[in-house]
Amino acid sequence: MTSNRIDRRGFVRSVLAVAAVHKVWAQADAVDWGSSVIDIHLHLRGDLDGNFRHISGCGVTKAVLLTNVNAEDRAQQVVQKYPGRFVRFASVDVLQPNAADELRKAIREGAIGFGEIKSQVQAASPEMQRLYALAAELDVPITLHFQEVSQAGSVGTYNTGLKKFDAMLKAFPKTKFIGHADAFWANVSADYAEDTSYPKGPIKPGGVTDRFLTDYANLYADMSANSCNNFLNRDPEFAAGFLVRHQNKLMFGSDCGCLDGRGTVAPRQGGPGAGRGNGAAAVSSPLAGKCIARETLTMLKKLAPADVFRKIVWENATRLLRI
Ligand SMILES: [Zn+2]
Ligand SMILES: [Zn+2]
Repeated sequence: MTSNRIDRRGFVRSVLAVAAVHKVWAQADAVDWGSSVIDIHLHLRGDLDGNFRHISGCGVTKAVLLTNVNAEDRAQQVVQKYPGRFVRFASVDVLQPNAADELRKAIREGAIGFGEIKSQVQAASPEMQRLYALAAELDVPITLHFQEVSQAGSVGTYNTGLKKFDAMLKAFPKTKFIGHADAFWANVSADYAEDTSYPKGPIKPGGVTDRFLTDYANLYADMSANSCNNFLNRDPEFAAGFLVRHQNKLMFGSDCGCLDGRGTVAPRQGGPGAGRGNGAAAVSSPLAGKCIARETLTMLKKLAPADVFRKIVWENATRLLRI
């Protein structure tokens, strides 16, 4: 009995010691952004727990899983396994003949938005206009990937013609558009010549992204990926003003491909069923080996007043998505 008790006491002591070590580790590694955070741009991972590993690793409260309709079952499993932590959007290739039907079905089954929509078409093409009308009819937002220049991490061009997108914003006043990707953020600067993905240097005021956000109530911005991070870093003084100016329409997102919310990347990105998009920071990128969520949240926290930060990382998206 005596030795048993000692053993038990010893066991309890060692459990406490391990717990203490974990606590110190957790505190050292914990990220507290001073607000709940929603990531509106997280692609469904290949393994069931991968998305949770990411959000818990970078201090994110909730995330929108952007999922192709083909992988909807898996997205539903993630939502169910982690109650309150995930909602989902559905995406399709608009060039598929049954694209609209697939999206309608996905919304019926619990998706709360379209996206990201990333097809090799013009943003004003008839196929896209069909989706804009459907988004308005079903009263869900639509996230669009705008890209005018092909790059290694995202080959091709997608939803081209952002400079003339005001025609769509005008034609579909009831559609809630969420802009994202290279061309969207590069076009904050009026001198974007559509010749590079991540332009550097000072921003020339008056770019279409800035103007459309001011002029059209139905345009919102998704602050994910290298593209938005590059925008925040190329001219921080301009960016600080932009954040205040559009404080009710900007929403944090990561589009991060790292495994753990700490910047660890898999030996090979992607794999069957992995999300699309340019989530993995390219080797040459300043974000290589870093978690985009952490980097962009750090920059937003630095540039925005506390109340504006809270709107961008939580309030705007939860209001728009009604969650
Ligand atoms: Zn994208
Ligand atoms: Zn990450």
